[in-house]
Amino acid sequence: MAHEAKATVAPLPPGGFGHVLAQPTALDTLTRALVGGRVHHAYRFEGPDGVGKELAAFALARALVCVGGDPLGCGRCAACTRALTLARVRPETPAHPDVMIVERGLYPPETIGRSREELAEISVDQVRKIVLAHASFAPHENRAKVFLVRAADELSTSAANALLKTLEEPRQGTHFVLLTSRPDRLIDTIRSRTLPVRFGPLPDDVVRGILRAHGIPPERHDLAIELAAGSASGAIELCDAERSTARDEFVARVRAAVGAHDLGPAVAMAEARDRDKGELRSDLRALAAALAREARGAVARAPAAALQAATRYQAALRALADLERHASPHLLLIAMVARMREA
Ligand SMILES: [Zn+2]
Repeated sequence: MAHEAKATVAPLPPGGFGHVLAQPTALDTLTRALVGGRVHHAYRFEGPDGVGKELAAFALARALVCVGGDPLGCGRCAACTRALTLARVRPETPAHPDVMIVERGLYPPETIGRSREELAEISVDQVRKIVLAHASFAPHENRAKVFLVRAADELSTSAANALLKTLEEPRQGTHFVLLTSRPDRLIDTIRSRTLPVRFGPLPDDVVRGILRAHGIPPERHDLAIELAAGSASGAIELCDAERSTARDEFVARVRAAVGAHDLGPAVAMAEARDRDKGELRSDLRALAAALAREARGAVARAPAAALQAATRYQAALRALADLERHASPHLLLIAMVARMREA
């Protein structure tokens, strides 16, 4: 009995589920389903960015298309290899024809029958071209067909509605994995048709191990781990030396704008921003963390200053939330500084 239980989880082939760290519940759910031959047709992987959802989704896809006879994916057959080999040019999709990716902006507009890039949403055009046009056919290589939907919360309402029927009753052997860090933004009908698998933030020691494995100097680890809140990709990004200088400058500029006579410096700062959402997100996180530290440090000796820092911290969090709602970076920065000045 003990032997059987062990065989369901170990040994894990390299590159597959073995790369997903510190998510025992999610891995247990998926490996049991694979070994038992009861893989659900539509999963919803929920959890913060950078904690292993995508690694697990690819491991699941690989296991489903594997022709080497291992229910968890043998890691050696051509199908396993191609499931994890991405094209080096746009669209960066797997070499295996039965592992398909849906993601905002992944495909050139002309490929999915559009005149413009998808800037804010996964369009219904992409769902039609990439999912509906293929989902009703048998897999090319006769095992399974897997659709991975990255940031599924970015499906437009019409795209989500177009997906519903297929999601509910896909062809035999067709599977969906919807990845999201914001499951509350999925429409109810999508949520009710998908089975949740939850991924939690990674423990600090696991993130530290990942930073070490990436050759990042130890002196940068602590701050990155504090700011990344359990996200490995977030911590790696925060360790980028060039970015950390830029982040310090951002925090200093916001502080100067908050202390200025009028909103002029805030407007100038907002106008100078380029449009990189990822960079703005990490800058705002750094600002929020600096304000949180300031508030904690002042609690005992200067309660009024602590309250002010805590209120400004809330304004930074509000700006982060606005950013995730696709608010204009320009306007959200000015609004944030205005709120901080009122504190
Ligand atoms: Zn294989």
